[in-house]
Amino acid sequence: MFDTMGSILIIDDESVITDLLKEILEEDYTVESTTSSVDGLARVRAKLPDVILLDINMPEINGYELCRLLKSDSETRNIPIIFITALSTPENETLGLETGAADYIVKPINPSIVMARVKNQMEVKKQRDYLEQLSSIDSMTGVYNRRYFDECLDREWRRCQRSQSALSLVLMDIDYFKAYNDRYGHVAGDDCLKVVAGKLQQVPQRGGDVLARFGGEEFVAILPDTPYEFVQFMAEKFRRAVEEAAIAHVSSKVSDVVTVCVGGATVKPDNKFSPLELLQLADKMLYKAKSEGRNRTYTSCLDTSPGEAAAE
Ligand SMILES: [Mg+2]
Repeated sequence: MFDTMGSILIIDDESVITDLLKEILEEDYTVESTTSSVDGLARVRAKLPDVILLDINMPEINGYELCRLLKSDSETRNIPIIFITALSTPENETLGLETGAADYIVKPINPSIVMARVKNQMEVKKQRDYLEQLSSIDSMTGVYNRRYFDECLDREWRRCQRSQSALSLVLMDIDYFKAYNDRYGHVAGDDCLKVVAGKLQQVPQRGGDVLARFGGEEFVAILPDTPYEFVQFMAEKFRRAVEEAAIAHVSSKVSDVVTVCVGGATVKPDNKFSPLELLQLADKMLYKAKSEGRNRTYTSCLDTSPGEAAAE
């Protein structure tokens, strides 16, 4: 779930330092740098790095303040911060660690110390991400679980709100799944869920897209930066992926294979709406797909609705 190369953001008001650190770390990591702490904060929030190297003495926001800001935000709290500073007294170092920094390196910069300490924090970060991922996975199907979905929706909602981009949700429900279990038994039912999850997972998705098991025989996809024009297209792709898996279902009233109903919804997140309302709209579209014959998709837009689009 993380890049083979970890990513690092360097924030130091002296370009001599950012250039030097970049040179030291570039071979092993994806490195970005900025000499402005305000820009640094914006960059962290736009694209979470694995590790941050942070100067203390800077105009605008100083390093201590920036560290506190990042540690008080649940989105950025888990990113290890290493202070790199000319402030060498134990008091400064203590204060640095007390604000939540993971490590503290005193200038002048020694390349091998920087490399070793960055490597340590990168390991810590990867371990943490891995453990987090373990508890975010639905054990039966291997896709994300409901808990992860809830967190991710909140996070993407805020991120899309900041970047003023559209956020889409797609809900999927297997048609006549109870009849499938009755006909083939629950073991086969579980296998069916696994295959369907695998097929949905394969639908070409971009890096930020998330597929989760919503509960029972329902799945959900979060599609960030996906405007309304594309949600219908994506919804249809999910529907087709399941149909093309060609899992026999003689008890289905709509097909001789397993199919899904799909409901999609899009919003440009703002304070007028909540993630729950987006979910409710997707659910409404899903219900419409069910009540109008199943194995079909409906999508809609929260706010300035361009109407509903349907496909079969
Ligand atoms: Mg400085």
